[in-house]
Amino acid sequence: MPTLEELLRLSAERHQHLCPRQVLGVRMGLLAGRLLGLPVPQKDKRMLVIVETDGCFTDGLAVATGCSVGRRSMRVVDFGKVAATFVDTETCRAVRIVPHHESRQRAKIYAPDATSRWEAYLLGYQVMPEDELFTFRNVRLRFSLQQLLSRDRYRVNCEACGEEIINEREVLVEGRVLCRGCAGENYYEWDDEPPHEDEGERLPVGLFMLF
Ligand SMILES: [Zn+2]
Ligand SMILES: [Zn+2]
Repeated sequence: MPTLEELLRLSAERHQHLCPRQVLGVRMGLLAGRLLGLPVPQKDKRMLVIVETDGCFTDGLAVATGCSVGRRSMRVVDFGKVAATFVDTETCRAVRIVPHHESRQRAKIYAPDATSRWEAYLLGYQVMPEDELFTFRNVRLRFSLQQLLSRDRYRVNCEACGEEIINEREVLVEGRVLCRGCAGENYYEWDDEPPHEDEGERLPVGLFMLF
């Protein structure tokens, strides 16, 4: 198993620097592996992580767990929170981990020589005991894991735009198989066509949900 130092170096490499949130990601990923009893970084896709923000934190998580968007073992739900739920897709056991509400204050105690708050987080987060850094709680998922993961090689074409849809993300509207975009969820409109009537209105960011 790689050490914390090795994981932090790998995370910093893909990120061009090391920052406190990557440290949180790496340490949280290691904790998740232990809580679920799964070896990390995983070589397979058994662990799924649902991360509640994008950014630096996700790089740390990816390095520690082996989960990635590319392997379909990481999903971002953009709640703007440094938090994540880790799922054992074989048993459906899931645990959500967040930084302890006092982790920022405590980091300073563990990094007394830090010259800034940022540096105190960066150093403190690396050495703090886990139970001072994080809290966790078991959760039940409110969506179908099977639907999220879907099936390999499944594909259909949208009856409106003709584009291919994979992973069973099509929707049935009045008997027609449509992509989510054509069903009204498009986040764009064609620049060479007149703007939509409700011009200026922005789609709520909440639109970009899990799947
Ligand atoms: Zn960063
Ligand atoms: Zn379509």
